Amino acid sequence: MYDEREIDALKRALERLSEANPTLPVFESSVDWERIGTVLDQAAERMHDNYPYHHPLYAGQMLKPPHPVARLAYALSLWVNPNNHALDGGRASSAMEKELIPRMASMWGWDECLGHLTGGGTMANLEALWVAGQLHPGRSIAGSSQAHYTHSRISSVLGLRYEAIDAAPDGRMDTNKLETALASGDVGTVVVTMGSTGLGAVDPLPEILELRQRYDFRIHADAAYGGYFTLASGLRDDTRSAFDALGAADSIVIDPHKHGLQPYGCGSVLFRDPGVGRFYKHGSPYTYFSSTELHLGEISLECSRPGAAAVALWATMELLPPEPGGEFAAMLDASLDAARALHRALTDSSLFSPVHAPELDIVVYAVTAASSSAASNLARQVFAAAAEKDLHLALIDLPAEDCVAAVPGMLCDSDTLSCLRSTLMKPEHTDWVDEIVARLSAARRSI
Ligand SMILES: *Cc1c(COP(=O)(O)O)cnc(C)c1O
Repeated sequence: MYDEREIDALKRALERLSEANPTLPVFESSVDWERIGTVLDQAAERMHDNYPYHHPLYAGQMLKPPHPVARLAYALSLWVNPNNHALDGGRASSAMEKELIPRMASMWGWDECLGHLTGGGTMANLEALWVAGQLHPGRSIAGSSQAHYTHSRISSVLGLRYEAIDAAPDGRMDTNKLETALASGDVGTVVVTMGSTGLGAVDPLPEILELRQRYDFRIHADAAYGGYFTLASGLRDDTRSAFDALGAADSIVIDPHKHGLQPYGCGSVLFRDPGVGRFYKHGSPYTYFSSTELHLGEISLECSRPGAAAVALWATMELLPPEPGGEFAAMLDASLDAARALHRALTDSSLFSPVHAPELDIVVYAVTAASSSAASNLARQVFAAAAEKDLHLALIDLPAEDCVAAVPGMLCDSDTLSCLRSTLMKPEHTDWVDEIVARLSAARRSI
C-alpha cells in the first residue's frame, strides 16, 4: 500500500521547503508527540474499514488511487497550507494553478480561456450552469437521462428548469429526442456528457453541434469522468469524433480527481470565452490587498480552496504531461484495453452477459438467467460472494427493456435489471483481467 521511498522523497522535499524565509527568528510550539503517535495509530486502525481501493482486485466504483507524486506534493504543501482564494493566502500555488489551466485547455485545443480548479465536479458543473443561466435567463437546461444526477439538482438550486432527454439503449443521448425538445421548448443549454458515470457512454457531440446550426443553445460538456480519454489513441471511431469536437463546447468540466491521478478535492471548470469572468464581479472589501494581479477568488464561486490541490496537479503534470502519445495517455489506453479484455471474456462466458460494448473503461454485465428478476437477484448475490473472494465490484440498475436483447433467452419481467459494474481505472488492471474473471466465475458458481 505504501513504499518507504515515498517518505524519503517527502522528507527531502520538506527539507528543501524549510529553506524558505531564512531570516525569520525561530520559535517553538508545544506539541505532545507521544499522544500524537497514539492518536495517529488509532486513526490508522479506524481506516482499516475500507475497500482496498489501491488494489487491482478493487474493480467496482469510479475510484482511482492518486499517483505518488500527487500524494507527496499535496502533503508537502500542507506545511504551508496555501489558500488559493487570494494571492494573500497562496501566492506560489495560485501561480501554479494559473499555469496548469492553459495546459489542460490545450488538450482540446483552446488557446485562450477562463478556468480554475474547484472542490470537485459538482461545484464545477454548478459554476458552468450558473454562467449558462446568467447568459440565458429563464431558459432551461437539457441533459440526457444518463447525465449525472447532479445536473437536475444543480438546476433546481439555480432556479433553472431541467429537462431530461431520453438516452438510447447504449446510454448515449438520443439526438432526435433532443431536437424535439429544442424545437418545442426553450432550451438554453445542453449538457453533453463525455463519459457517463454509469456506463461510460459518450454523447454524440458532432450531431449535437449540427443541431446548433439550426437552434440557438449553449453547450456545456460534462467531461468530469471521461475528459482525459481525449488523449487516448485507442478510442473507437464515433467516440474519437466526439472527443475531437470537444473544443466547440462553451464550457468544459473535467475532474483531475477522477482520471487525473489526484487526491479528492480536485475538479475544474473552463470557459471558452474569458469574458464570462464579468459575472463573478464582486466588491469584497477585505480579501484582496496584496496586488493588482488576478486573485483566483475573483473568478470562482468558492472562496477558500486548497492550494494543495494545485500543487499536486502541477507536480503530476510536470511528471506526466497530458499529451497524446505520452506516458499518461498510455495509462488511459491501458484502461481501455482492460475494459475490452473483460468485455471479451464475459461475452465468451456462459455465466455472464455484458449489456453493451464499453466505450471507455466501464464494463456493465448481467448474470445470465431466465428472467430479469432472477438476474437482478443473482447480481446482488454475486456482488457479495465476490467480495468474500477479495474481488470488489459495483451494482447498477438499468431499464430492463434496454438490456434484454443483450442477454440470450432472458424474459423481461421487471422494470429494472440489476447488473454488475466494473470500472477498470488502474493501468494495472490489464494484467489482472484473467484473475478478475476467475474470481467472478468462482463467485457465481458458489451460489
Ligand atoms: C463524478 C461526476 C460528477 C460529479 O463530480 P464530483 O467530483 O463527484 O463532485 C459529475 N458528472 C460526471 C459525469 C461525473 O462522472
